[in-house]
Amino acid sequence: MLRLIDTHCHLDFAAFNADRDRVLEECIYNGVVDIVVPAVTQASWQQTIDLCCYDSKAKNGQPNLYLALGLHPIFIEQHQPQHLLELDQLVTKLKPKAIGEIGLDFYLRELDQDKQQAFFDKQLIIAKQHRLPAIIHVRKAHDQCVLALNDVKLRGGIIHNFNGSIQHAFKYIDLGFKLGFGGMVTFDRSSKLKKLVEQIPLDSIVLETDAPDLSPERHRGERNSPEYLPLVLDAVAKIKQIPREVVAETTTANARDVLNLPS
Ligand SMILES: [Zn+2]
Repeated sequence: MLRLIDTHCHLDFAAFNADRDRVLEECIYNGVVDIVVPAVTQASWQQTIDLCCYDSKAKNGQPNLYLALGLHPIFIEQHQPQHLLELDQLVTKLKPKAIGEIGLDFYLRELDQDKQQAFFDKQLIIAKQHRLPAIIHVRKAHDQCVLALNDVKLRGGIIHNFNGSIQHAFKYIDLGFKLGFGGMVTFDRSSKLKKLVEQIPLDSIVLETDAPDLSPERHRGERNSPEYLPLVLDAVAKIKQIPREVVAETTTANARDVLNLPS
């Protein structure tokens, strides 16, 4: 029986309101036993907290839901300095598994880069102070991200949906990070990404869906779902030519290790 961890799923988003329980039951059927749910804005923290800390407690036959708390760079316009103080207080109170989703997105040109960098740096310090790993979103800003991590030196974390260079991958690995791969690796045309998966040691890889976004090829154009995580597993196993049971066991151990999840 497979035991998989979806290390990045926005299960709190409204896209799951109509059928969240069915999705979660399907996850267990597909071997997805743990799901990490990273929050994205102060305004939506409570919904993420309710889902991970309260709703899931009583339900049998569903995966464990683990909370990460942070301010996502894509929503940079909404973030206020006050939210950082609130984040620090909530982390003390709720002890999430990670600070996330945080990061730098320099791909979307309309997002204020200086403000992103300031919020990223401050959230890394919060992670450091609470001895928590970080779940990081990075696009077109790997040099800046590596510099920031070099300054703060966390106990590690996950670079989610990694799509940088192999040189950046090894810098992150040296800093104690795992690289997250999701639905994009299932596409035939993702040759650069497949090459990365081939070159990065299995010990440094974790699986994720990033649902409701980034659906695997078989569900292209549909809402993505954590129940599809085995498709990512199969793609990684095929690229690396390693049995899927070994990929499952190793990536699950990697995720437990870096996020300090109970086994
Ligand atoms: Zn995300």
